[in-house]
Amino acid sequence: MTDVPVERRTYFPTASPPETARRPCPACGRESLVPWYLRRDRERHVWRRWVCTACQAHQDIAEDESA
Ligand SMILES: [Zn+2]
Repeated sequence: MTDVPVERRTYFPTASPPETARRPCPACGRESLVPWYLRRDRERHVWRRWVCTACQAHQDIAEDESA
C-alpha cells in the first residue's frame, strides 16, 4: 500500500512517558505496544503505527479507533 507519512519519526520509541497508552502486543503478549507515528492512506484514513518496545513487532491501527 502506498501511503503518505503524516509525521516521520526516524528513531525507535525506546522510552515513553508513563502516561502513554499501552496495548497488549499481538506477538509477545506483553503490555508494551506504544504509539509510534501517524500516516494517512489514499482514502485519507489516518492510521497510527504501534510498535512493541519488547519485541519490535508493529501493528497499524486506525487512529479514530485508538483514541
Ligand atoms: Zn511484543
